[in-house]
Amino acid sequence: MSSCSFSPSLCHIDLGCLGRNFKKLGAPEALLPVIKSDAYGHGLMPVARTLDKCGCVNFAVGTVDEGVLLRKSGFSQRIVPLLGALTAEEWRKSYQYKLLTPVIDQESLKTAAHICPSHSVFPIAIALNTGMGRLGFAQDDMPDLIEGLHRYPNLKPELVFSHYACADMPEEEIYTHAQTERFLSMTNALRAFYPDLIRSLNNSAALLNDRASQWELSRPGICLYGGNPFFGTTQADQVPNFEWAMSVSDPILQVRKLKMGQSVSYGRIFTAPHAMTVAVIGIGYATGFARALSNKADVLIAGRRCAQIGRVCMGMIMADVTPLKTIEPGDLAWIMGGDAYLGERAITADELASEIGTISYELLCLFGATNERVYHGADF
Ligand SMILES: *Cc1c(COP(=O)(O)O)cnc(C)c1O
Repeated sequence: MSSCSFSPSLCHIDLGCLGRNFKKLGAPEALLPVIKSDAYGHGLMPVARTLDKCGCVNFAVGTVDEGVLLRKSGFSQRIVPLLGALTAEEWRKSYQYKLLTPVIDQESLKTAAHICPSHSVFPIAIALNTGMGRLGFAQDDMPDLIEGLHRYPNLKPELVFSHYACADMPEEEIYTHAQTERFLSMTNALRAFYPDLIRSLNNSAALLNDRASQWELSRPGICLYGGNPFFGTTQADQVPNFEWAMSVSDPILQVRKLKMGQSVSYGRIFTAPHAMTVAVIGIGYATGFARALSNKADVLIAGRRCAQIGRVCMGMIMADVTPLKTIEPGDLAWIMGGDAYLGERAITADELASEIGTISYELLCLFGATNERVYHGADF
């Protein structure tokens, strides 16, 4: 991000919500919370510090660099970089900073073994592909994997994990079950040689479905930040009440009158059906408010829902504030969150995401990455 602010919007992160969400997920020892991609846009360091205060003993990050940053900042937790090490240099850093980096194929196994000094042991993780078609060893690779591990006795497998493709889709239960069975058989083969191997399979959706999991570690991501992985499905109501940690506010820049028949913004996709009052708000697609949301979203102003109208611009949107009497420049509009008036609902990332065919994860990452972040509430 540029050092000078290019948008007046603010991304508010309530660390209290984050802590309470974490505590709803069970014993910290059984959790490997996922704080990749700058903690889903919430900020790696403040999120790691908050989870640390809640007794968290494991972190899953994305890159080796994120892991190194945590280690250099004094975190002593087990740290797993989910993307693996991309180069020999990253394997060297993994060894030096005691990261539990996954091997994903024979090549990475070999590189990890070669950077480990001959007198030393190097704890590693193993990524298995059970049906996601992404990183890791597949079922057919198991004999080679085991042989490779035996060839390099300095490598000490400590954790094995795999990832579900559709644990959040009740209609894909059969596929998910097949992945579970495959994981069980693959990890059994490994545990014949490494009986202490820690297993991790469940993401947020699977953890919520499988609270008495047989696996030692679960990897919740989205529900830490308040998201419901089952949003929009038949299972949406069966999820505990997680609190959204992120909200986004923007100042109103101008309040203007529209006469009947006058249009708003590029392309004239909105024309006033009657005389209206319109607020111009300082956020746009450059800082996470997708252009595809044009004419589709609400914003919360003075606790009331107001319809966003016309095309979303790069740094501005307009909203219909006709029913509100006392709105003036400087007042805040809430894109997500904010205090709703009795009988109104605040806007959620799930609601905005579903309007444009995406998921809350994407909006949280984008709002968090492009807006200035401010932190609140460390109570949990
Ligand atoms: C992102 C990620 C998770 C977390 O998924 P959620 O749906 O956010 O709970 C877990 N494991 C892996 C490997 C991931 O990449």
